[in-house]
Amino acid sequence: MSRGRRLFLAAALLAALAVGLAYAAYQVSRARCFALAAPAVCRVATTEPVVALTFDDGPTPAGLDALLPELERRGVRATFFLVGAEAAERPDLVRRLVASGHEVGNHSWSHVRMIGRGRGFYDAEIHRTNQALRAAGAEPVLFRPPDGKKLLGLPLALRRHDLKMIMWTVEDPATRDPAAFAQAVTSQVRGGDIILLHPMYADPTARRALPMILGGLAAKGLRPVTVSELLAKAA
Ligand code: ZN
Repeated sequence: MSRGRRLFLAAALLAALAVGLAYAAYQVSRARCFALAAPAVCRVATTEPVVALTFDDGPTPAGLDALLPELERRGVRATFFLVGAEAAERPDLVRRLVASGHEVGNHSWSHVRMIGRGRGFYDAEIHRTNQALRAAGAEPVLFRPPDGKKLLGLPLALRRHDLKMIMWTVEDPATRDPAAFAQAVTSQVRGGDIILLHPMYADPTARRALPMILGGLAAKGLRPVTVSELLAKAA
């Protein structure tokens, strides 16, 4: 084999390796139930008929005004993963969640993708949010990565800050019909699952679907709890 051909093969091999590594990193970054360096909890093995109900982003008045009365009416407590910058702007809403018995988790300060940043960036995103949440009476012990993305820096930062990384099993179905949305969630969900809904911004589908989701869970004999309550029921 000529020297030129050997060099070509070596370069091709390295390129294939780089593509493979990039692909592997991409898959790890979006895996629901796996992360490097720290556990990523996407569901909990339990013998009890419970599921965790989680709401991401905000807080916004539209989200809380729609959700809290409905949760209260059914005696349900959920986990809200809040964006630090928004929580700092609206501490009254964080206090309202805490006063209603809901769990509040950390969802980063600025909701940017938490991949490929320096250690100080992760620490600041996490710490500032914890401070804003604590100032409003919450005691965050859980973290949900924005868009569920993580690689190595974020899990290591969560270990430094003693926060558990919470992913999910079932997420907002791709429909704007509240009844179909609720049906898709409740037909998929099993005991031990973590449900993720996005009810805080302009799209009202998740807000409108919530009463039907709660009804559907009750019909299946599944009781919604907070993530920390679900974790405590691990078999
Ligand atoms: Zn989010």
